[in-house]
Amino acid sequence: MKYEKISTEVLEKLKSIVGTKNVQTDSDRIQPYSHDEVTDPAYHHMPEAVVFAETAQQVAAIVRLANDCHFPVVPRGAGTGLACGAVPTYGGIVVSLEKMNRILDINEDGLYAVVEPGVRTSDLQQAAEAKNLFYAGDPCSGDSCFIGGNIATNAGGNRAVKYGTTRHQVYAIEVVNPKGRIVHLGARLQKQSTGYCMDQLIIGSEGTLGIITQATLKLLPKPQFSLDLLAVFDDTEKAIGVVTKIIKAGITPTCVEYMDNITIKSVERYLNETLPGSTHGNYLIVEVEGSSEDDLDEKAVTLDELCTQNGADSLLVADHDKIWQARKAFAEAVRSESLIVCKEDVVVPVDKEPQLLHYILTLAKKYNLITRIASHAGDGNIHLNILKNEDSTYEDWNDRVHQNQQELYTFIYQSGGRLSGEHGIGYKRKALMEEFTDPDELEMMRDIKKALDPNNILNPGKIFDIK
Ligand SMILES: Cc1cc2nc3c(=O)[nH]c(=O)nc-3n(C[C@H](O)[C@H](O)[C@H](O)COP(=O)(O)OP(=O)(O)OC[C@H]3O[C@@H](n4cnc5c(N)ncnc54)[C@H](O)[C@@H]3O)c2cc1C
Repeated sequence: MKYEKISTEVLEKLKSIVGTKNVQTDSDRIQPYSHDEVTDPAYHHMPEAVVFAETAQQVAAIVRLANDCHFPVVPRGAGTGLACGAVPTYGGIVVSLEKMNRILDINEDGLYAVVEPGVRTSDLQQAAEAKNLFYAGDPCSGDSCFIGGNIATNAGGNRAVKYGTTRHQVYAIEVVNPKGRIVHLGARLQKQSTGYCMDQLIIGSEGTLGIITQATLKLLPKPQFSLDLLAVFDDTEKAIGVVTKIIKAGITPTCVEYMDNITIKSVERYLNETLPGSTHGNYLIVEVEGSSEDDLDEKAVTLDELCTQNGADSLLVADHDKIWQARKAFAEAVRSESLIVCKEDVVVPVDKEPQLLHYILTLAKKYNLITRIASHAGDGNIHLNILKNEDSTYEDWNDRVHQNQQELYTFIYQSGGRLSGEHGIGYKRKALMEEFTDPDELEMMRDIKKALDPNNILNPGKIFDIK
C-alpha cells in the first residue's frame, strides 16, 4: 500500500481540527506510540504524528481529511494490546482517544453506562460498584486498558466464562466510520431483528472498520457473595481435565483460570512472595458467585468433590486479592524474564483443552522452547508464552517458534479452534491468519473492508492485507 506522507500542510489542517496542543510530532513524545505491549522491536514502527482527539466531531474531521489526502489513521486506546493492532505499520497518524475519558452516565434504573472510549476499564468497574452495580468486562489489563480498546478487540478476560466477552456487554456504540461520518449502531434493547448487526461487526474489528467514540454498556446488580478457591494439582492435564466437569456440574463459575508450575514460580520471583503449593503444584483458580453464604458453601463442597476426585492435591479458600494479584502478574513476570517473547493466544472448544495442553507441552520439548503458560481455562483460551532461549540467536529461536506454530495451529484448527481467543490478529498474526483461515471467509472479510473503507485509510495492514 502506498500512502502520502504527512506534509506541513496536512499538519496545519490537523491543528485546525484539534488545536495545536493536540498534534504531536516530536520524536521523543511520539515514540511511545510506536508500539503496544509487544516488546520485540521487530514489531515497532514510528507514526509521523500523534493526534489527540477530544470529540467525535474531531475524529470524523480527521478521517475525512485522511481520505482527502490519503494517509493512514490508526486508532489507539491505552496501547496495552498484544497483537500490534495500534502500531502504525504504514506510518501516517495515530489518533489517540486518551483524552476522551469521561463516564457520561451510570444509569441505575436502566442498568447501563454511557462512556467515552478512553475510560479505563477499572474506572468504569469502580464507578459502577460505587452505585452497587457491576460491569462484567474484566481483562487482566483492566487497570490500564480502555473501554474503546476492549470493544475494538472484543477483549475477554477472567469473567468471560460466566458473562461473555466485551461484545456481550455492549448495547450500542457511536462510531466514526471510514468515510468520516458519525453513526450510531446498536440500541439499548434486549432484542432486535432489524437488519445487519453493524455494531457487532465493528466490535472486534481492531480499528479497521470504525473508530469507537462512545459506548452504551450493560450493567448488572452487584453480586453479593463470592468466593475464590485454589485447587493445586501435581498433574497439568488433571488440572485442566476438571474444567468441563465443573461446568457440567451447573455451578456456573465466574472465573476458571489455570497456571502451570513453572509460571507460578516465575510469578513468585517477580512478586518476591511465596505462593501456596508452588514447589510442585499447577493452579486452578475458581471463582464462584452465590445468592447467599449457604449457596456459596454448597458450591464449594461440589468443587472440592470434583477437584479431589480428579486428583487435586489440595483445595483451599484463597485470599481474593492475593490470588488475583498472582494471576494478573503473569504478563509482567514473563516480561521480567525476557523482552523477546512470542505470545500465543490460542483457543479451542473447552472439552479439547486437555489435548491441546498436552500437545503444547509435547511440541515445546520437540523444539526446545521455554514456555510459561496461563489460561482462561473456562473458555478454552490458553496463553502460551515462548521466551527466547538465552543461548540461541534470534533467528534460530524465531525459526523454532515458526515451526512450532505450523504444527500447533494445524492441530488447533483440526480441533475446531482459532488463532486468537481475545488478543486479536493485529499485525502480529496477519500471516498466520492468511495461512489458516478459510479463503472464502477471508474473502468475505476483505469484501467488507473494501466496501466500508474504499481508500483503506483505517488501520491498514491489520488482520489481513487488501488484495
Ligand atoms: C498485562 C496484560 C494483561 C492482559 N490481559 C488481557 C485479558 O485478560 N483479556 C484480553 O482480552 N486482553 C488482555 N490484554 C490485551 C489488551 O489489554 C486488550 O487487548 C485491550 O482490550 C486493549 O485495550 P487498549 O485500550 O490498550 O487498546 P490498544 O492496545 O490501544 O488498541 C488495541 C486495538 O484496538 C484498536 N482501538 C483502540 N481504541 C479504539 C477505538 N476507540 N476505536 C477503534 N479502534 C480502537 C487499536 O487500533 C488496536 O487495533 C492484556 C494485556 C496486558 C499487557
